[in-house]
Order: sequence, then structure tokens, then C-alpha cells
Amino acid sequence: MAKAALISRLKALIGFRALFVSLFLGSAFVFKIDLFADPRAISLFIITLYVLTIIYALLINRIKRLLLFAYVQMALDLAAEIALIFLTGGIESWFSFMLILTVLSAGIMLNRKAGYIMASIGSILYGALLDFQFYRLIPVAYAGEIHEGQFFYNIFIHTVSLYGTAYLAGYLSSNLERAEEKLEQKDSYLRDLEFFNMKVIESLPSGLFTTDSEGQVLIFNRAAEKITGMEKDNIIGSKIETALPFLENSIRQGRTEEVVRLPDGGKKVVGITISVLRDISGNKTGFIGIFQDLTQLKELESEMKNKEKLAAIGELSANIAHEIRNPLASLRGSIEMLREGKIPEKHREKLMDIAIGEMERLNSIVTDFLTYSRPKPLDIQATDLSALVSDTLELLRNTVHGSGNIIVRLLNSEEIYAAVDPMKIRQVCWNLGINAVEAMENGGQLIVSIRASEDKVSILFSDTGPGMTVEKVGKIFYPFYTTKETGTGLGLSIAYRIIEEHQGRLEVKSAPGAGTTFEIILPRTYGK
Ligand code: ADP
Ligand code: MG
Repeated sequence: MAKAALISRLKALIGFRALFVSLFLGSAFVFKIDLFADPRAISLFIITLYVLTIIYALLINRIKRLLLFAYVQMALDLAAEIALIFLTGGIESWFSFMLILTVLSAGIMLNRKAGYIMASIGSILYGALLDFQFYRLIPVAYAGEIHEGQFFYNIFIHTVSLYGTAYLAGYLSSNLERAEEKLEQKDSYLRDLEFFNMKVIESLPSGLFTTDSEGQVLIFNRAAEKITGMEKDNIIGSKIETALPFLENSIRQGRTEEVVRLPDGGKKVVGITISVLRDISGNKTGFIGIFQDLTQLKELESEMKNKEKLAAIGELSANIAHEIRNPLASLRGSIEMLREGKIPEKHREKLMDIAIGEMERLNSIVTDFLTYSRPKPLDIQATDLSALVSDTLELLRNTVHGSGNIIVRLLNSEEIYAAVDPMKIRQVCWNLGINAVEAMENGGQLIVSIRASEDKVSILFSDTGPGMTVEKVGKIFYPFYTTKETGTGLGLSIAYRIIEEHQGRLEVKSAPGAGTTFEIILPRTYGK
């Protein structure tokens, strides 16, 4: 038993004894009971007990061997009780019950063993007293009708009662002790758990804080200190916005990304998730926030984006260079031959034509590319699409005239109006039409039709050409993708871009051997 616990129990014992003696004395006066054959002896007895009480009280904080001290007190109590029993008539005394009180207090306050020891001492002393009385060795009178058997019966009953009491008291106290031990174990388990939790929180690589419902910080872990540059001791107890200013007006649940300005003037991007903290019964008690430093990640991300952009520009530039170098090479070839001068007139003219042709080609590549890369703003007008398509197809017919047997047909003739940029849509139709014609090297049909609904209008270009594989369809809208010797690969990318500007769609249906259909889908009213 811990020393402090023993001291407080001993104090209780001393106090209880003093109270008992006072009550005992007082009640004898109140009830005017004349139990005591020898009042002087009783007075002496009571004074002795008071003096002993004072001595005990003085000694308790000085004595080292507390257990022995307790045993001595209790043994002396037993002796005093025997003295009282002696003074009040031995076998006829009412006070033998007091022995039980001492055994009880020994058993409960100390332990089971002390209970048995006190029971033994009590039994021996009581037995001895009654024996002495029976054999008249001490001057205590007793009525003549009490015979020998009653004396032994009395000793027997008292002995049994004292041991029984010691047993019960010990049983009680050992149960109590076990419960106490369990409680202590639980306590230390809880303390361990708390320690473990604190350790886990401190070792988290993410910043973590908790606040009460007013936003006052309760927990602020090491990673949080590192990210915010704030010290835990300065932030705990104050508002969370001291460390994370973006939480100033409201602490909102959910995930956000915020910028935090550090005390040293730097900046950090922080990804933070906040949730409501609830107690076991589900009541809101505050907030918990977990946050990470995303600064490096963000830098890396924007670096990657820049790199991707640069790579795309690089690829495009390579393609442009390639497209421009081909005509340049043949241009150079023609001019070098012309410079030599010994070329017959007939050839010279042909070379000149080639040179001019290549220059025109260069010019058209550059123009096309600019159309694609820097489109002019749309000039939206109410336009009759069937007239527009019809005009374009007429031009196309003139171009293909004589080159094989290609038939170009328009199925519609009624007016269909839509809000579009007519110049640009004309260009789209031209690009699609010329592609279809170029695809049908051995002749075929291009059938164009227009379908209109309440809010949309479609223009379909269906050819009976060779068609395309799925893989090829996937590439045709990339700038500079071409399968033609003199193609630029810009026609479809420009068409796609223009339709996109009109907030429409350009779709393809094609299969090898089954021809190709391009469908332009446009909203009838622009911007709705
Ligand atoms: P270009 O006409 O200069 O080659 P385009 O962007 O207009 O560039 O077309 C890209 C490629 O798509 C063409 O080279 C061709 O292989 C393919 N293509 C386009 N239209 C058709 C079509 N109607 N039928 C089959 N292939 C087509
Ligand atoms: Mg083309």
C-alpha cells in the first residue's frame, strides 16, 4: 500500500477513535448511566485514551515504520477495550462488541492478515480476562448463577465472531484493492493511449490542427509549425487565422487550395481539408484541419505545363519548316538552273513557271497556317446556307471539270438561314469538297445535303471515295497531317477550328471501301 494512503487511513483511525471515545463518554453522561463501579478508574481510562490520541497525532508525520505504528495502535486499542471490559464487569460487560470494531478496522484499513492478528490478540486477551475472572484471580465480581459452561461459551462465541469479522473485513478489503488496481491499470492504459495519440499526431507528415467551435487552436502539430513558420506555443489558445489567415471570416468544411504568406515574407501554396470535429455523442465541438505544403508540387506542375507547351510549339515549328523547305528547295533548284543561262528558251519558261508555282505554294502555306493559328474574329450574318453551298459546289465543278468522271450534286434548293460567318463557312465547305474530289482519283460521286431542325442545321458531304481506317480518322484533324504529295495537311484542321468557333461540331463517318461522310453541325442562332 502506498505510504500516503496508509497515512490518510491512520489519520482516519485516530480521528474515529477520538470521536468514539468522546461519544462514549458524552452519552454515558447524557443517559445518566451508572455503569462504572469505579468512576475514578473510568476517568483515568478516558484521559489515557485522549493522551494516546494526542501522541498518535503528533507521531504520525514523523514515524517511518507506519505499518508497525498501525499494529501497535490497534493492539493498544484491544488492550484498552479489554481494560474497559474489565472495568465494566468482565463477562457481564456490554463492551465486548468493541473488540469487533478494532478487528474490523484492522481488516479494512490494513489487510486480511492484520485482521486475523487482531482477532487472535483480542481472543487471547478476552479469553484470559474471562479465565482470570472465572478463577477469581482478578477482583471482578460476577453473579453466582453464571456457571463454567457460560464462561467457555462466551469465550468461544467471541473468538468465532472475531475471526469471522477478520475474514469478512479481509474479503471486503481485498476486493476493494483489486478494484483499485484495475482502475489504476486502466488509468495508465489511458495515459499510454494519450501519449501514443500525441506521438502519432506529432509524427504526421501533414500539418494538423484542431480548434474549438470559436476557432481557438487546441492542437497544432510539428508539420503545421514547419509549414506555417509559426511556433506551437504562440498559436495554441489563439485564433487559427493567426497561422492560416485565409480562415479569417469563416472556417468552411471541404478541400481548398490557398496561399499562405509566411512571417519571413515568403509564400506557400497549401492544400487544406477541414472537417467538423464531434464528440462521442455527435455534438459539434470544433474543427479539425489537415494541410500539406503544395508549393513545390505547384512549381513542378507549371514547369511541366510550360514544357508541354514548348514541346507542342516545337513539333509545330518542325512541321512548318518541313512544309516550307520542300517548295524552297525546288525554287532554289529552278533559279540555279536559270542562272547558268545556257538553257533553251522553251525550258527557261518552264523553269520560271515552276519557280512561280512554288512561290505561290509557299504563300498559300503561310496564309493557311495563319488562318489556322491566328483566326480572324467571326463576322456573323444571317446566311442562306443552301445558296452558299450551291455557290461553292459550282466553283468545285469548274475546278474538277475534265479530270475524270466526278459528279457533284446538291440535294437541297430551298432557303435555309442560319447565323454564321459566310466567308468562313464557305472555306470549310471548299476544304471538305476539295478533299472529297481529291480522294476520288478514279471518279465517283460527291453528294451534299442540308438538314435543318428548329435550332440546328447540318451540312453533309458524302463521297464514294476509298474511305479511311479508324486510325487514320484519328489523325486527320491534326495540322500538317497529309497523305498527299503536295498536300499541306491544314485543310481539315482549319475546318475543325472554324466550326468550333461557331460552337458547332465537325463529325466524320468513314470506313475503308465505304466512302466518307463529313457532317458540319451548326447552331442556327449563334451564341445560343
Ligand atoms: P490535305 O488535304 O492537305 O492532305 P487535309 O487536312 O485537308 O489536308 O486532309 C488531311 C488528310 O485527310 C488527307 O491527306 C487525306 O488523307 C485525308 N482525307 C481528308 N478528306 C478525305 C476524304 N473525303 N476521303 C478520304 N480521305 C480524306
Ligand atoms: Mg485538303
